[in-house]
Amino acid sequence: MSRRYTGLTALDAVDLHIESGAAVALTGPSGSGKSTVLHLLGGMDRPDEGTVAADGEELTARRLDAHRRRVGFVFQRFHLLPALTVLDNVLAPVLPRRVDFDRRSRARELLDAVGLLDRADALPSELSGGQQQRVAISRALINRPGLLLADEPTGSLDSGTGREIIDLLLSLRERYGMTMLVATHDAEVAANCDRIVRLRDGRIVADDRIAPDTDVLGRLGGLRP
Ligand code: ADP
Ligand code: MG
Repeated sequence: MSRRYTGLTALDAVDLHIESGAAVALTGPSGSGKSTVLHLLGGMDRPDEGTVAADGEELTARRLDAHRRRVGFVFQRFHLLPALTVLDNVLAPVLPRRVDFDRRSRARELLDAVGLLDRADALPSELSGGQQQRVAISRALINRPGLLLADEPTGSLDSGTGREIIDLLLSLRERYGMTMLVATHDAEVAANCDRIVRLRDGRIVADDRIAPDTDVLGRLGGLRP
């Protein structure tokens, strides 16, 4: 698929297939096209050329809304609504919609899964950055997505907290059986995935499958741009 902006090719004929259940790290310098890939896969953006497919079905305009509900998105800067409690932030994506599950019990289950059920009534401003990201992760899972997209989820956190967040994402992916794609500058985050796709100037320049027990950090010493 390709994506162009006036005078600029953000993605140049990128051909990427992600197996169901995989944890894939997307790396590359700033401006290399990582966020563009995530937005295209999440159905938040459309390619200028080529197609995006999920579960073998092409994402046509008609399918986009349903697709977006099967995708969870985690951002670098959390994007919580400051006036809403933690619980209401997790509920926010499903409040305007009819759903076939009990919203509040699902939200509480997800807060429990990220270790923050006891802060359900707090405001985001009363939480640390790492706690806010945990709330944002709960919110991303409220529709039980099959695909979790995380755009530099540890980029606003110190390295210890970032490490906890990535461990949490990987364990939730296992628990809920999700496919996960993480855009990251962090070599340690990438090393914990099972595949590392590296972009440069809108093209894939490396695609490494990581066998368990590989010394990825040693091998990818140059991962940081
Ligand atoms: P990354 O996430 O790797 O930093 P992006 O996917 O955000 O890269 O951006 C890829 C390229 O596309 C960059 O050159 C960026 O400036 C450009 N770009 C991204 N979004 C837009 C937009 N809405 N309008 C114009 N250019 C954009
Ligand atoms: Mg980006």
